[in-house]
Amino acid sequence: MSNKIYIVGHKSPDLDSVIGAISYSYFKNKLENTDIYQPAIAGNLNEETKHVLKQVNFSIPVLLQDLSDKKVIMVDHNEFSQAVAGIEQAEIVEVIDHHKIDFQYSYPINFKTAPLGASCSLIYQEFKKHSIVIEEKIALAMLSAVLVDTVITKSPTCTKLDVEIIKDLANLAGVDDWQNYGTQLFKIRSSVEKLKAKEIIKSDFKDFNFKQENVGIGQVETVDLSSFKKRKSELLDALENIKEKENYHSVILFITDILNEGSWFLIASDDKNKIDQAFGVNFVDKSCYIKGVISRKKQVAPKIKDVFN
Ligand code: MG
Ligand code: MG
Ligand code: MG
Repeated sequence: MSNKIYIVGHKSPDLDSVIGAISYSYFKNKLENTDIYQPAIAGNLNEETKHVLKQVNFSIPVLLQDLSDKKVIMVDHNEFSQAVAGIEQAEIVEVIDHHKIDFQYSYPINFKTAPLGASCSLIYQEFKKHSIVIEEKIALAMLSAVLVDTVITKSPTCTKLDVEIIKDLANLAGVDDWQNYGTQLFKIRSSVEKLKAKEIIKSDFKDFNFKQENVGIGQVETVDLSSFKKRKSELLDALENIKEKENYHSVILFITDILNEGSWFLIASDDKNKIDQAFGVNFVDKSCYIKGVISRKKQVAPKIKDVFN
């Protein structure tokens, strides 16, 4: 086993998990005056992640396909179902994450968690705690991640502390109008509409295991819901296809209209009643618009989990 320690986020990597890996590697290497920490990714990059990496001129982290026998720090996830293959055989040295905890390990490790809006907010706190300077490019990348994960502070997962962190990172990055900068990022994010239906569903997709049943939940955040509504039947076909081929009880795609703070849901399920019950609505033709629901972590996943328990 080499002494390299990989810092890696979840499968279907989003901006927070990629910038989390990069910024936390930078932090750990500085703190310990070493170069053993290496950022990695668990899959292909989405559009806004490619955009941000280019903007700050960071190289794309190494793609890991198998974590067996590797030393690993998990960032922005802690559930093995969301990790790179081989996590059960990896040596986990630390976890830094802002999601619900579903984690078991046979050894004592550092487990850093807080109910903040982004993993990069926790990483920001680590920089501050140890008085390590956040240089301009790292600040811009972290700012971008916190803005996307908190939906420009609109998400119910966003705390007062996240808002303070956003303001400080914007200041460090030389961004005068962070709301406008965030909106630009979401315009790039919406370019998923150019993708095939299956790619749209899988672009930000998470697996959950509720009482032995597999549920997959994909989310798209957009400023233009109408472009997705036009593709309803194609998206529903792709959801059905994923459900059958990959053995899910239910596959859910919700497309969040960030300007109107609501989401349009599409489902493929073995039991539609359960999904109706979860949200207290009636899905007609496998779809439903639900006002006020915009967070997978805080709203969608807990509601679905409740009806399985
Ligand atoms: Mg994430
Ligand atoms: Mg995150
Ligand atoms: Mg997200």
